[in-house]
Amino acid sequence: MRIKDFGINEIFDSRGNSTIEVGIAVGNGLAFYSSLPAGKSRGSEEAAVLPFAAASSAANRKRLGAITNRDFKTQRSFDEFLIALDGTKNKRKLGGNVMLGLSMSFARGLAAEKREEVWEFLQEEFFGASGGAAVWEPVIFSNLVNGGEHAANNLDIQEYMVLAGTKGGVKSAVKKLIAFYGALGERLSSLKRAANIAVGDEGGYSLDFKNNLEPLAILADLIREKKFSGSFRLGMDAAANGFFSDGKYRFDGKTVTTGNLAAIYERYFKKIPALYSIEDPFAERDVSGFSLLSETLQDKIVVGDDLTVTNRELIGKYAGEGIIGGVIVKPNQAGTVTEAAEALREARDRGIKAIVSHRSGETDDVFIIHLAKAARAYGVKIGAPVRERIFKFNELLRIV
Ligand code: PEP
Ligand code: MG
Repeated sequence: MRIKDFGINEIFDSRGNSTIEVGIAVGNGLAFYSSLPAGKSRGSEEAAVLPFAAASSAANRKRLGAITNRDFKTQRSFDEFLIALDGTKNKRKLGGNVMLGLSMSFARGLAAEKREEVWEFLQEEFFGASGGAAVWEPVIFSNLVNGGEHAANNLDIQEYMVLAGTKGGVKSAVKKLIAFYGALGERLSSLKRAANIAVGDEGGYSLDFKNNLEPLAILADLIREKKFSGSFRLGMDAAANGFFSDGKYRFDGKTVTTGNLAAIYERYFKKIPALYSIEDPFAERDVSGFSLLSETLQDKIVVGDDLTVTNRELIGKYAGEGIIGGVIVKPNQAGTVTEAAEALREARDRGIKAIVSHRSGETDDVFIIHLAKAARAYGVKIGAPVRERIFKFNELLRIV
């Protein structure tokens, strides 16, 4: 495919912050666009994000001019060209956000050229077409209580998630999740005697709790009730970079060591049998915490996010060491579609669970749902089933 022209526009994400949309024109009046979400609790090794002004500066547009009027036959060859053109480790020259926007738009263009759905094209390109019509029953990781950097409340833990299986169909899972979200709102209103409860960045409820355990206990009680019994498991994203400094954690108002925190989490898992997964339980530099916790958890998973930043080598390393049983895949941590696909392949080859994820600053771009389907990922992590988050739920309904 030959790119005739490209454009970078300023748009705004779900927090009202500036982000970019990147388009390519491929001739015959055809153009493809992609928009870029933004993370707030970011891993330090994530691909660089250039603000709109730098992304669309004359100097950057000149550098990017090299992609026009050149034939690229595959996604990989286009992405490799971008990576070489940028030439830095963290994609700071062209911008990881600019590169991913071009990369996703290119994938959309190639899929259209082949008269295929984006997920079909990605499956053939990266995951072997043999999966073909096989069923995909992703677990939906839906964040219903927000804390940490995503909310103005007293929770150190960033996300309390309900894990909804889709074996009975995506539609019934989504309906059940929506009903559960409503029931949780009512439960929180009555428990906290509050008529109005705020929501955080990902649509989950945001209010003060007694401690970091209380939301889990409330969620566990609610899923035991007759109407929801057996429907959901629970998961957390501690995003522990956010409460780590000088080698210690600030948790429930106390300063605790890595060992203390591991013991606290172990207690959570014992008290709440429905709790299945914990993401970034320790800071990305505190690898010892991950091994400590993984050793003691059976049939449960520790998930890497800021730890692994959608990087194939890091995923291979930590999966190989047995300290993660699952991994978050966010294309904008990597900066090209090919590298995100490689991260998914690495997870598959290492036998760990891959969960394709949104960012807390959301746009209406649904590309990640197609990537997740192409890879037959274990799960998709897409926030509460409301507001701007609903676009990804709806894309699941369309394509699964
Ligand atoms: C996360 O930590 O998993 C997350 C989605 O948050 P953010 O997008 O702010 O990094
Ligand atoms: Mg995370």
